[in-house]
Amino acid sequence: MGTKKKILIVDDEPFFREVLIDILHERFIVIEARDGFEAVSLCHEHMPNLIIMDVEMPRKNGIEACKILKHEPETRKIPIILFTSRSKKKDMVLGLKAGADDYITKPIYTPEIIARVDAHLRTKDFYSDLEHKDLRFLLEITENISAIRNPMTILHLIVEKMAEIIDVARCSIVSINDKGEIIVKASNDLDCQEELKLDISKYPEIQKSLESKQAVIINDIKSDPLMASVREQTKELTYNSIVVIPVIKKESVIGTFFLRTASPFKNGITDRVYNLCQLIANISANALENAILFESVQAAQKYFEEMAIRDGLTNLYNHRYFYDRLEGEFSRASRYATPLSLIFFDIDDFKRINDIYGHTRGDQVLKKIGQLMKSIARESDIPARYGGEEFAVLLPNTGEEGAFDLANRIRCIIRDHEFVNLPGEQITISSGVSTFVNNNYQSLNELVHRADEGMYKAKNQGKDKISQLRVNS
Ligand code: GH3
Ligand code: MG
Ligand code: MG
Repeated sequence: MGTKKKILIVDDEPFFREVLIDILHERFIVIEARDGFEAVSLCHEHMPNLIIMDVEMPRKNGIEACKILKHEPETRKIPIILFTSRSKKKDMVLGLKAGADDYITKPIYTPEIIARVDAHLRTKDFYSDLEHKDLRFLLEITENISAIRNPMTILHLIVEKMAEIIDVARCSIVSINDKGEIIVKASNDLDCQEELKLDISKYPEIQKSLESKQAVIINDIKSDPLMASVREQTKELTYNSIVVIPVIKKESVIGTFFLRTASPFKNGITDRVYNLCQLIANISANALENAILFESVQAAQKYFEEMAIRDGLTNLYNHRYFYDRLEGEFSRASRYATPLSLIFFDIDDFKRINDIYGHTRGDQVLKKIGQLMKSIARESDIPARYGGEEFAVLLPNTGEEGAFDLANRIRCIIRDHEFVNLPGEQITISSGVSTFVNNNYQSLNELVHRADEGMYKAKNQGKDKISQLRVNS
């Protein structure tokens, strides 16, 4: 049990002090201060285990007091949680810069206060049982982490150092993806860059930690009931004990990351190893959060970039992107004297399809045509939806023959396709093909104009046709 821990509450407003005392007085000895001056002197007098302090106060504010307390050797280790108004982001940043360990925004939300207080007091407890070299190790890790920008490098550093300091068979940081696979983000016995995927059903200890959000300690994997389902696979393992610790940030498991440490000794998870793992899990939380953030920002960025260049219905390139590429490819073709071809086509009698089957089914036809085009275009071709029911394909490095060939394959694949929503209907297209070769055209507009002209010619000649004005014939 032991004696009650002490918490120093610093706020100039009696109301907030009352609320906090109400929440905390049963479990803790609560000491009150009304401003930064009092906080510093009461802190020396009582040496509290934790300080909860308002930022805005007369005489000496929370940030100044925080700076002083974090500067003095006797008080620097006491965790400080700052209180700020939600609207004052700047205060939070200043507070954290001044050395505060955490912040809470007003208004007061009881469960949050309790969770934060417990989390900080728990963190402090982990330091007991640690050896001198462990503290040096933690310091070294913390310093390294703040100097390294790449979150993955940080994770690798953590597992390697961890494996060095405690005699472990394996130390890894893993995450769980939405398919229920374990992704090994970093492991001391794994080469850096590749990510290893594992089946979670083979790791009941990680599964349990995921469900309970708590640390799981297996002192002997050969006899622990939790490991019964994987007894066969674990028979040959060179380690006996495992500790899995969920990496927690602000009381929620972030992206389900776990620090899994396996020890070769029987009953190898000592208090020291456990505490060290807990501290490392805490330290990893920031790096992991950054890693997740970085990945999701990258994914979002990629998504928006794709969105900006694609047509929503067909997922082909949109007009604007197509035109950009057309300009680029035309100037490249002029410079390097390589051929460049362009196919335009328009669906025949599409108005009739819309009139009979409705606009929605018409849209489905356009979507299907997009898929058919993608299925036969080469990697280097640039297929696009040029307008409503007009499509285009840009073919870099392709001469008249090749362009005609692709245009004809598109014509056939669409004509022969049985559209499920249009029973018995045949959809045909009319195409115009033009090719820039041997500087036959002075400008890009001319190339476009020829393809356009060809398309109308094909319509006039009875549709379901391709019109190509060849120079090389
Ligand atoms: P033509 O053979 O001469 O091309 O005849 P058409 O009926 O296809 O005539 P036109 O090309 O002039 O008309 C295009 C029609 O395509 C008009 C419109 O009903 C339809 N359309 C254009 N864009 C869309 C679209 O995004 N969705 C649907 N469902 N229909 C579209
Ligand atoms: Mg049209
Ligand atoms: Mg048409």
